[in-house]
Amino acid sequence: MNIEKYRQITQELDKYGAKLVAVSKTKPAEDIQALYNQGQRIFGENKVQEMTAKHEQLPKDIHWHLIGHLQTNKVKYIAPYVSLIHSVDSLKLLQEIDKQAEKNNRTIDCLLQIFIADEETKFGLSKEELHQLLSSAEYQSLQHIRIRGLMGMATNTDDEAKIESEFEGLKQLHAELKAKYFSHTDTFSQLSMGMSSDYHLALKHGATLVRVGSMLFGER
Ligand SMILES: *Cc1c(COP(=O)(O)O)cnc(C)c1O
Repeated sequence: MNIEKYRQITQELDKYGAKLVAVSKTKPAEDIQALYNQGQRIFGENKVQEMTAKHEQLPKDIHWHLIGHLQTNKVKYIAPYVSLIHSVDSLKLLQEIDKQAEKNNRTIDCLLQIFIADEETKFGLSKEELHQLLSSAEYQSLQHIRIRGLMGMATNTDDEAKIESEFEGLKQLHAELKAKYFSHTDTFSQLSMGMSSDYHLALKHGATLVRVGSMLFGER
């Protein structure tokens, strides 16, 4: 756990008005508690079971963000407490989140994960799928979810110009969607992009949430 780095990052984020999602996947509860003691409240996990176990163990005012791929049949486990789901990539998943949110008498905040990299392995909606989803009657009937913005992961490369153009593309897509589908509300305000290796670049292109793990907690 690198407290010095934590201070540096949070100071830098403050200048941009962005927030840190401290990605604690695979790390023990003690590491999370140590960062919590420094004032950190938002933690990101990529597995439902792990996040739920940590939620049960740790202080209840932690905001838990799910950042990894989410299977429909696991939504019920996180619906009672999850603060933001970054990884929504289908209407079917969104419908299940809505259903479980209603059962828990709450509204669940979500980001739509967009495919911006040129790697086959990364999840996310294409632009076409995105427009299809947002203009569908099924989506528009959902009452217990709130789309707060977009999430994306850049290509894993040393080519900074390429990473920057992917982030800039996501920022522009966000602006386009805001004008087209969310002009009546100010809740569509979040752009989750940037990890340990590229969060500086993401900040330059308008990230409001950066997801940083190994730089804070050490290599996994
Ligand atoms: C693991 C992970 C991160 C954090 O990556 P680091 O390189 O450890 O900062 C960010 N986003 C997602 C979706 C992840 O799975």
